[in-house]
Amino acid sequence: MKTLLALVAVAALAGNLIAADEKKADKPKFTAGSCCDKADKKGEKCAHKCCVEAAKDNKACEKCNKPAKK
Ligand SMILES: [Zn+2]
Ligand SMILES: [Zn+2]
Repeated sequence: MKTLLALVAVAALAGNLIAADEKKADKPKFTAGSCCDKADKKGEKCAHKCCVEAAKDNKACEKCNKPAKK
């Protein structure tokens, strides 16, 4: 169980770092029908360079997942 504890500690540290930048540490939300959304539904990750970069930060690519305008 020590490994699990270490993982939790690391995750907590990383979470704090992310929280300072952005409060939402949840799964990135993809715009329905976007390249990332389609890939996610297939259980894959979008291969677009811009999306891969965004995924590294646990974010959805803003270029391909534009927030729905009201
Ligand atoms: Zn994408
Ligand atoms: Zn993209």
